[in-house]
Amino acid sequence: MGIDVHAFEESRPLVLGGVKISDRGGLAGHSDADAVLHAITDALLGAVGAGDIGEHFPSGDPRWQNADSAIFLSEALHVVTERDGTIVNLDVTIIAQQPKLAPHRAAIRESVARLAGLREDQVSIKATTTDHLGALGRAEGLCAMAVVLIEVQPNFSIEH
Ligand code: MG
Repeated sequence: MGIDVHAFEESRPLVLGGVKISDRGGLAGHSDADAVLHAITDALLGAVGAGDIGEHFPSGDPRWQNADSAIFLSEALHVVTERDGTIVNLDVTIIAQQPKLAPHRAAIRESVARLAGLREDQVSIKATTTDHLGALGRAEGLCAMAVVLIEVQPNFSIEH
């Protein structure tokens, strides 16, 4: 599983799951602050015991300033493959009081499936609010959670 929270920063574009939702009302962060791709990246790395996104892509590294988070996802996919893992399915929940995400769900699903090399029926994108409770409910930021199921093919070795 992976979780990511970013504060809103009005002047930045909002990018979720590789989809530009709007030119403004985006998220603060070192990279493009795509919380959906960050949560998925962390879920993938975690599933194969390969650390976390901050370890692979330190936020102090100037290379990742305004970076497209698809780069992070791509690296995590590479690590999963290296460890003989295959993704079975990927389930994401976005918690945000605003903006309304229902109109963007299909596009985000399509984009995440494409970026992760999966069929759309292997990807689920859900959105909910906190019913105005807490910092997320006051629309101070957005949270993304991802759960991924990975199948690891056992490496058969013949002992002599
Ligand atoms: Mg993040």
